[in-house]
Amino acid sequence: MQKKIKASRRSMGMNYAIREITVPAAAAAARGTKMYNFNIGDPNKWDFETPEYFKETLRQAVDRTDNGYGDSQGNLDLRQAIVDREYEKNGVSIKAEDVYVTAGVSECINVMMGAFVEPGDEILVPGPGYPNYAQYINFYEGKTVPYRMIEEEDWAPDVDMIRSRITNRTKAIVVINPNNPTGAVYREKDLREIGNIAAEYDIPVISDEIYDKIVFDGEFYSMSRLPDDIPRVILNGFSKVNLMPGWREGYCYFMDRNGLMDEIREGMMKQFRARICANVPCQEAARVSLQGPQDYIVDMNRKLKERAEFSYKRLNEIPGISTNKPHGALYIFPKIELTDWKTDKDFVYDVIDKTGVVLVHGSGFCEEFGQGHFRSILLPPMPVLEEAYDLLEKFMVKHQ
Ligand code: PLP
Repeated sequence: MQKKIKASRRSMGMNYAIREITVPAAAAAARGTKMYNFNIGDPNKWDFETPEYFKETLRQAVDRTDNGYGDSQGNLDLRQAIVDREYEKNGVSIKAEDVYVTAGVSECINVMMGAFVEPGDEILVPGPGYPNYAQYINFYEGKTVPYRMIEEEDWAPDVDMIRSRITNRTKAIVVINPNNPTGAVYREKDLREIGNIAAEYDIPVISDEIYDKIVFDGEFYSMSRLPDDIPRVILNGFSKVNLMPGWREGYCYFMDRNGLMDEIREGMMKQFRARICANVPCQEAARVSLQGPQDYIVDMNRKLKERAEFSYKRLNEIPGISTNKPHGALYIFPKIELTDWKTDKDFVYDVIDKTGVVLVHGSGFCEEFGQGHFRSILLPPMPVLEEAYDLLEKFMVKHQ
């Protein structure tokens, strides 16, 4: 009998709830159920199209044969466009050498955690929060320490909990603003307090701002606008606002007056050199997306706002479901009364099985503070949302 080869513990420990839910979804689809794939935050799967001038730029870049390897840190033209754009948006003065271009923000998270985390190191992350942070912290054998997002306060971060969970192993504090999965847009006051903690303990803030332009209620305040004694790195990308998720482009930039993260940057750069470069022609399209007309974003926010308001109203009408109103990003994160189910995962699997509506269980975004919830998306057009919420309502009424 031949012995099977064992995979590493680290790889087998990866659990990305948003895509794992496709397994029960595929089973329901195979039975002929009409599916509502509300699990992935991909605008291009719905009525949001990559603007034509980005596509044309990509075609031209390929035709010009910009098809060889590029700079491991990112094309200089794109990094300079990011510098200009960040100045225009947030009034910050960074340099092209502070910017690193990655294959989506996902790669940036992987490489960054690879540089920050020694086994046993702790990273504070919002709970609930985008699961890739915990995944990569665990992969590098660090410890994910969640801090609560307070549902009763419109999912504001519990700043006291951040402070109370700092130990001598804490390496960084992650902020995701606007937030996935809650749709919260952080208050300036909370960001300032988090910034004060970072400066007091010399612990950098990792601020993921991939949804910075997707705000339909209230105002976005970037962590980059805080005083310069706060060590921080800002992550952003082109998958959401710039409608090119499949092109895999993202970036981060460091704001670190005292050079506390110099070695982290070098550790990241060593990894970037080994993976050679981000997609070169797509970087050209990403550059143009920062410099060309931005009116499509207004249109996108108008549609999302309408869908957010409808989702908020309609989901709150369903017995056993209650929700806060999302103010930005692409998601809504309702609470479920778990009458007939032990966990939110059982609930979500049952919903998929009986209705074809594919939601993601809240505990997939944090065991401690996401339980008893589900995440859905605001992206589908109104008639599709209506159909799915009607099915969900019928399902819930049966269980009351
Ligand atoms: N960060 C957040 C908060 C996200 O929600 C996502 C995707 O949903 C990502 C990062 C990853 O995006 P990408 O790798 O497409 O840039």
